[in-house]
Amino acid sequence: MASAAPETSAYRGRLAPSPTGYLHLGHARTFWTAFERARACGGALVLRNEDLDRDRVRPEFVTAFLQDLRWLGIHWQEGPDLGGPRGPYDQSARLAHYRTAFETLRATGHLFPCTCSRRDIQSALNAPHAGDEEPLYPGTCREASVPDAALRTAWRFRVPAGREVAFEDGAMGPQRYRAGAHFGDFVVWRQDGLPSYQLACAVDDHAMQITEVVRGADLLVSTARQILLHEALGQAPPRYHHCPLMTDAAGQRLAKRHDALSLRALRNAGRTPEQIRQRFGAPAGPE
Ligand code: GLU
Repeated sequence: MASAAPETSAYRGRLAPSPTGYLHLGHARTFWTAFERARACGGALVLRNEDLDRDRVRPEFVTAFLQDLRWLGIHWQEGPDLGGPRGPYDQSARLAHYRTAFETLRATGHLFPCTCSRRDIQSALNAPHAGDEEPLYPGTCREASVPDAALRTAWRFRVPAGREVAFEDGAMGPQRYRAGAHFGDFVVWRQDGLPSYQLACAVDDHAMQITEVVRGADLLVSTARQILLHEALGQAPPRYHHCPLMTDAAGQRLAKRHDALSLRALRNAGRTPEQIRQRFGAPAGPE
């Protein structure tokens, strides 16, 4: 029987939008880079709908990102709209995967239950973008004996204090982050039964066999956290390529609140995909 080339040797990238608002110019630039890198390698691009935050997610934003990405000229090979062998591609339909990883981490002593009701437990569903990084966890529950079976608790990853997490970033070069200094014990599971962004992302990047993660530079510290999760789960992390952030005229990072710079608004104002791509320095058109 002829054996197929190992899937892991082929480039697999991903686009991971959250349907909590319209995509803006900053997303467009990062997603275009992801598209170009996959295309340059003749690889595949996976679209993953990061819809865990039930309070903020709206179905119309899913429809919108599918339309806006296509309008811009980006194509993907697997996704919630196309299906594929590594689905489902909506995170809300993947809870069993996250639960299994959580049980593994708990059984191997990487987690501790945390009863602190802190803002970072509430916000753990979302990727921490610039300005949203949580304060270092003060360790209140780290050594406490919380009767985990008795309480619905959140769970944090016990970061190895002082451990340096180093990786070579495809865009930013060598990176080094120290556990306990650049980031502390982080939330992996919330008391309401949902995984954190950090866990869901590491589980999915592995399960979807992603070989390179292209995303914004504000997620560099999250990469260090996710590398520790990959390690604790016994899986090899992907490569990383963090794109510089796009800022507005006042030097602020673009956010979903910059409605005027949403792809939708720019399109409604008569901008063409070519003009958008030129604005972030991409070639005038896909061939
Ligand atoms: N859904 C996350 C966001 O939109 C993506 C983070 C990532 O690419 O890992 O911020």
